[in-house]
Amino acid sequence: MKVGACGVSYRDVVERNGTYRRDVTFPSILGIEIAGTVEAIGGGVERFAVGDRVCTKAFSSCGQCRYCRTGRETTCRQRRVVKGGYAQYVALAQDAAVAIPNDMPFEVACVLGPGAGVALNAVRDTAHVQVGEAVLVTGATGGVGFPAVQIARHAGAIVYAVTRSETKADALREAGAHHVVIQRVGENYGRELRDMLGGEGVDVVIDTVGSQAFQPAFDALAPHGRYCFVGQLTDQEISINPARIFFKRAQLLGVGSVSRAQLEDAVKMAAAGIVTPRIARVMPLADVAEAHFLVEAATETGRIVLAPWKEGEDRQ
Ligand SMILES: [Zn+2]
Repeated sequence: MKVGACGVSYRDVVERNGTYRRDVTFPSILGIEIAGTVEAIGGGVERFAVGDRVCTKAFSSCGQCRYCRTGRETTCRQRRVVKGGYAQYVALAQDAAVAIPNDMPFEVACVLGPGAGVALNAVRDTAHVQVGEAVLVTGATGGVGFPAVQIARHAGAIVYAVTRSETKADALREAGAHHVVIQRVGENYGRELRDMLGGEGVDVVIDTVGSQAFQPAFDALAPHGRYCFVGQLTDQEISINPARIFFKRAQLLGVGSVSRAQLEDAVKMAAAGIVTPRIARVMPLADVAEAHFLVEAATETGRIVLAPWKEGEDRQ
């Protein structure tokens, strides 16, 4: 595959600095969020031809094991990690790739798997959000949070978007949030929000932040609510009295990665304008160090993407 674009994620940063070690072997080329053009195909490849435009999910799966055979391919024990996107060419298993439309930019396609694809897994296939339900999204301006707001809105939910930045509230309303909650350090909005909702709270939490967001978000959860863990940004742990879980009849759900079918649907939703990934910068491969610095500093709104065939600097 000729790489058209590769997303730079926080996962890449922690892999580079040694914090993230799972599935990491050497020699290693970073880059797991890839879009590009099929340049050559090996034996047994049936789904693609030379010249096809594709994007990737995070793993290829075996298609044969008990998980793959029961629609749970993201936990396939023979899964092989997609990597090597920080390059001009990369070799991939066909199972990891999904076709994209001719008019979809590579910088948009490359972030669909880890963004809209994971959000779709959370909102539709894990939380099973229904029309009219109240859905709270933490880290709503993030790579998964933003499409989760768009998908929950599209699903007919009443959407509460949590952000720490007042300046991002308008962007969240434009994305479909009915209500924007500004989370200030040390403040717990959860009970206030539950009172606002007549003491009931929200039916679903899509938590893309993890431990730092857990307490207020769990407080905001209604009886019989579903709490989806989608991300964890620090090594901080959470503490909860189990009675609070069973008094609430709460369901705690883990969301992991994206299946091929989910990514195919995310591509369709992006083509239809239902999800619109935000790209902060498209940078040449030579600027990879600065790209990592920007992701680590988290100063940009939207994704940082490398385009290996792009020359020179692009600073908007
Ligand atoms: Zn398998």
